[in-house]
Amino acid sequence: MADTQRTFSIIKPDAVAKGATGEILKRIEESGLRIIALKRVQLSAQQAEGFYAVHKARPFYSELVQFMTSGPVVMAVLEGENAIARWRELMGPTNSNEAPAGTIRGDLGTDIEQNAVHGSDAPETARVEIAYFFNATEIQAAVEALP
Ligand code: ATP
Ligand code: MG
Repeated sequence: MADTQRTFSIIKPDAVAKGATGEILKRIEESGLRIIALKRVQLSAQQAEGFYAVHKARPFYSELVQFMTSGPVVMAVLEGENAIARWRELMGPTNSNEAPAGTIRGDLGTDIEQNAVHGSDAPETARVEIAYFFNATEIQAAVEALP
C-alpha cells in the first residue's frame, strides 16, 4: 500500500514579497499534493529561532532568523503519497543558484538563503514542524481521492 504522508511547507518572505504565493500553491495542487491547512503569518523572532533551533550553531543562523522574520510567510500542511519526498523534489536543492529550472527554488528563489520555500526532511521532523505551527482543529484531512 502507498504511504500517505503529511509534510510541512513554508512559502518564505522573499517569495511572498515578490507575489509568488499563488504560483507556488498552484504547483503544489498541480502536483497532486493536497493542501490540508494553510495560513499567512508574520513570524516573531522567537518563533523563527525555535523553528530553526537545529541550525543554532551554524554561522548563518542569525541571518536566517532575520530573513524569516523580514515579512509574512505562508505556511501549509501538505498530504499525499510520499508527500515529504515529493515536496522536496518540487522545491529543488537548497541553493537557488544551483537549483534546476522547473524547480520552485530554481525558478523563484534567489540564493542559498533566500530560496523561496521550506519543506520537512523526514516524517519525524514533519510531525514536529506541523505541531509547532498548527493545532489539530486547523488541519482537515483531504476528502478528495488522493492520487
Ligand atoms: P529548508 O530546511 O528550509 O527546507 P533545506 O533543508 O534545503 O531547507 P537546510 O540545510 O535545512 O536546507 O537550511 C535551512 C535554511 O537555512 C535553508 O533553506 C536556507 O534558507 C538557509 N541556509 C542554509 N544554508 C545556508 C547558508 N550557507 N547561508 C545562508 N543561509 C543558509
Ligand atoms: Mg532543512
